[in-house]
This record gives sequence, structure tokens and C-alpha cells, in this order.
Amino acid sequence: MTLALNLTLDDYLEMIGEAGRHLAAIEASEGAAGNISICLRQPVDLRPRFPLVAEIALPQPVPELAGATLIVSGSGRRLREILDAPTASLCGVVINPGGTTARCHTAPERRFERVTSEFNSHLAVHYDQLCASGGGDGDFHAVIHAQPVHLTYLSHIPRYQDTTTLNTRLLRWQPETIVNLPEGIGFLPFEVPGSQALMSRNVAALRRHRVVLWAKHGVMARSDISVKRAADRVEYAETAARYECLNLSLGEPAEGLSVAEIRAICAAFNIQQEIF
Ligand SMILES: [Zn+2]
Repeated sequence: MTLALNLTLDDYLEMIGEAGRHLAAIEASEGAAGNISICLRQPVDLRPRFPLVAEIALPQPVPELAGATLIVSGSGRRLREILDAPTASLCGVVINPGGTTARCHTAPERRFERVTSEFNSHLAVHYDQLCASGGGDGDFHAVIHAQPVHLTYLSHIPRYQDTTTLNTRLLRWQPETIVNLPEGIGFLPFEVPGSQALMSRNVAALRRHRVVLWAKHGVMARSDISVKRAADRVEYAETAARYECLNLSLGEPAEGLSVAEIRAICAAFNIQQEIF
């Protein structure tokens, strides 16, 4: 499912910029933290915006993505600044035949040396969603890594370091949360940023969930609709965590939605879920 067919390269750059600015506005992207990528199956003419081309090796072979274009944030770039000058912070990566190398298209004004240090996780999730578990016929996919304060704080507390507990605590604060995240938030134990272990656990968790919490680090969210939809998922999860932190800080006076109330919401909105 996609809305991508009539969008131009500049539309994509603008939407990535708007998502980046919003992630900063909700305190999910301090300094240069966080990164964004989208993957497009249909050809995109990158040359008007990204005239410089260099060959790069890919972190894993992705042969079925040959010809696909990824638009990726650069290492060390600030998500909040993408909107003002997208080509300074983004590049286009076109996968070569065979899927082990790619052509990296950049602009003369780029302010980074390499793609994001989390590129291995971005590429692996795109590949898995578009080619493996996704059934192979998708033509658009967006991935965001962000570091929202409240979610990340909760991931430091031992009793929240469990997918069941995390979700029964967090999905009880607003009716929208279960509607938008019916599979809940996946939880991953701490792994070193950019590592192979984080990449492979993350791919598996994002098969089941639309947002995954990386312990003591941040989140990754995906969408096959738009990059803004992926940002919304970060925001829904982070808002739930803000309620939870508020409740903890006040000595837990609030009950949240009851199990019966959440089940009634799910029945009314035809939401299939296994959390409550
Ligand atoms: Zn990070």
C-alpha cells in the first residue's frame, strides 16, 4: 500500500524534513541523535538535487532491492535542520544489480561524510519489509530512529524491560494508542549502537511491531504509508510513556483505561490485538 505514485523527489525531501523537525519538537532528537530513511522501488531522478555520485559497499547483500532508491540522512546531521536545507543533510542511495554495492548520490553542499551510522538497521528493515516478510510487492517503506526521552527513560527501569509489561502499562493512557499500535511496542535488550546484534534483533522485532524500543537508547519505527506516519508512531508511543512517567512521578494515583475499557475500544474500532 502506498501513496507514493504521484510524489516528486522534492515532496519526499520535504516530508522527511517535516518529520525530522517534528521529532525534534517532541524531544525525540537532541543534537544529532536520530536518523531517517525511505526506500522507493520506482526509479527516481536524483541528479537535479544530488549530482555527485560515488560507489559504496552495502552492509548486507540486498539483491532483491536492485534498482531501488533509498533517501537517507547523513551521519552527524541534525534532524531538525533537514527541512531548511534537505540536500545538505540527505543523500540518495541507488542499489546496484547484485545488491552488494550502491551508488551514493550527494549534493555539493552536503555536510556529512557517510550515511547514518544506523544505516545497517535501516537497510535491513527496508529489505525485510519490502522483500522478505512483507511479501515482496511493496514499493514504499519509511524507517525512523529517534531517541524520545520518556520511552528511553522507562527502558532503563527493570520492570519495563519486558514487552508484555511495557505494553500493558503504556497502552492504557489514551484510546488512540491501541488503535494506532495494535501490536504494541516491541522491546529489545541493550545492544551496542550500530552493531550486527542490534540490526538482527531489530529486524525480527519490527516484523511483529510498528515501533520497537531499544533499551537504554531509543526507538525505531516503520511505515509503508509515509515517513510522517512513522513519525506519528514514535509520537504515540512517546506520549504513552510521558503519561506513564507522569503517573510514576506522582506516586501512581491514576488507574488508566481498564482492560474492559480497552477491549470495548478495540471492539468498536475493529482492532485485533493480543495485549489485553
Ligand atoms: Zn541512536
